[in-house]
Amino acid sequence: AAKERGKGGLAVYDSAAHERALETLTLRRELEAAVDDGALALHYQPTVDLATGAVTGFEALVRWPHPTRGVVPPLEFIPLAEQTGLIVRLGTWVLRTAVRDAASLQSSTHRPSVAVNVSARQLVHPGFVTLVRSALADSGLAPDRLTLEVTETALLSDVEAGVTALTTLRRQGVRVAIDDFGTGYSSLSHLARLPVDVLKVDKSFVDRLEHDRDDALVSAILAMSRALRLTSVAEGVEDPGQADWLREAGCALGQGYLWSRPVELETARALLAGSPGVRLAPAG
Ligand code: C2E
Ligand code: MG
Ligand code: MG
Ligand code: MG
Repeated sequence: AAKERGKGGLAVYDSAAHERALETLTLRRELEAAVDDGALALHYQPTVDLATGAVTGFEALVRWPHPTRGVVPPLEFIPLAEQTGLIVRLGTWVLRTAVRDAASLQSSTHRPSVAVNVSARQLVHPGFVTLVRSALADSGLAPDRLTLEVTETALLSDVEAGVTALTTLRRQGVRVAIDDFGTGYSSLSHLARLPVDVLKVDKSFVDRLEHDRDDALVSAILAMSRALRLTSVAEGVEDPGQADWLREAGCALGQGYLWSRPVELETARALLAGSPGVRLAPAG
């Protein structure tokens, strides 16, 4: 339509904006239908013990296999779902599915954990604690095999309700991770007060290990994590040099394309089967 209106000028701009608005509306409607129809999918990316190479668990990452657009990545539809409130229903499906899948991965030799990303809006929803409890009870997954990943910003935006929910769940053994750490504005004193077990170092810092040799920043984050007795996980590890550096700097776990991209459940099961069992892999 933009082209029909001719080149330059306000009409072209308006028309393009109009098209974008329509596009967003369509996407929103299609996403809602996909959630209702159970048409979303979860992929699983392993977390690896940097000392032994053993798979300790998986992060559940949502995908939208769209009939015409191909697989839509979460960064394109999670913000949309957050705006409309659909994230609560979407997140409920993710949590229940991930917990059930993780239960199916437990065996006498392997006890992988599953990490589930939780948006601020889900966390402060009044039904959240009950949802997590019932997902665990229905699946039989031990609470300490579930990690909830929240960002610093999620915990800053509505501190009271979110922190209360996480504190309640942690008391029952569920673990909490701060995701994308370093990209928000948490001070050390703020972080120390949060109900957290795991700190995930954002990929942007891991990237710098390779390019700028700006290692002091990552060392400082790992030292802080250690001081707070948190388990450190490095995100987005892509080459062996980064993994070696991180291990020597005391980072416990890593995640990234170096080991595996996010994969389907059955591929995750195969990765686990090829990995050392419980005696070698510490919980995480
Ligand atoms: P995140 O939680 O920080 O997840 C890590 C992202 O980094 C994933 O992208 C993963 O595929 C990607 N990644 C992992 N290793 C590497 C690597 O070595 N190199 C590169 N370039 N990328 C790597 P993905 O799956 O596109 O997810 C993006 C974000 O969407 C997630 O970031 C998370 O914030 C959000 N998200 C995904 N699934 C869910 C969900 O079920 N609920 C909510 N609320 N958010 C989700
Ligand atoms: Mg995450
Ligand atoms: Mg992350
Ligand atoms: Mg990240």
